[in-house]
Amino acid sequence: MRILLLTTLTLLTACDVAAPMGGSLADGLVQPVTYDGAGGSQAYIIDSGDGRVVLIDTGLDEDAGPILDALADLDRTADDVAAVFITHGHPDHIGGAAQFDAPLYARPEERPLITGEQNPERPFPNFDEPEATGLDIDVPVADGEVYGFGYRTVEVFALPGHTAGHTVYLSAGVLFMGDSASATSEGELNGATWLFSRDTAENDASLAALRDRLDRERDRIHTLAPAHSEALLEGLAPLDRYLDGV
Ligand SMILES: [Zn+2]
Repeated sequence: MRILLLTTLTLLTACDVAAPMGGSLADGLVQPVTYDGAGGSQAYIIDSGDGRVVLIDTGLDEDAGPILDALADLDRTADDVAAVFITHGHPDHIGGAAQFDAPLYARPEERPLITGEQNPERPFPNFDEPEATGLDIDVPVADGEVYGFGYRTVEVFALPGHTAGHTVYLSAGVLFMGDSASATSEGELNGATWLFSRDTAENDASLAALRDRLDRERDRIHTLAPAHSEALLEGLAPLDRYLDGV
């Protein structure tokens, strides 16, 4: 009996800290779009409450198929997208952006990656010729700005490190972390992946600065949503634990 109880408690704890992969967040206001296969990324659809939606990133697929399917499940189409916010210009985050007429929001520091004028900076040399994407930033955003869509706001936080112009967004109590962090299956948070990052030390410093900024209003954040793993439902606590160990 005691073993059964302990097992039940363990399962409950695991469910409490991490959202099921692909399950909706923020009481259904946020729908993650899960991609199959290696290198696949999640995009997120935020319900702005006025019949429209806001996207965070656009995944790997150039036809934006997974996002369009997820929009159809919500009885929405590409025309209902009011804005596309980009965390950073890596190909698995901007792949489907051309499928949406909505303005593309990003920090200007990220422009060379979004346009394809520059290759991603990584810890090893890349001799490939950069390839133009046909994309550009329509609305340059800056740290500290807040944008309103319907009943929802999207707040902008600069988080340089993984890329120079990497940006984290806060909406509906969910902190969309892009590739600045990833979650483990045990409900812990890790920083940016070294192999794919420009500067992981800068990323860690940016995460610490962000935690300090949000510390006094931490009740506003209930979910951490990295791009390549499930979301964590413990507010800023996983970020605190990660930073304690850095
Ligand atoms: Zn990336």
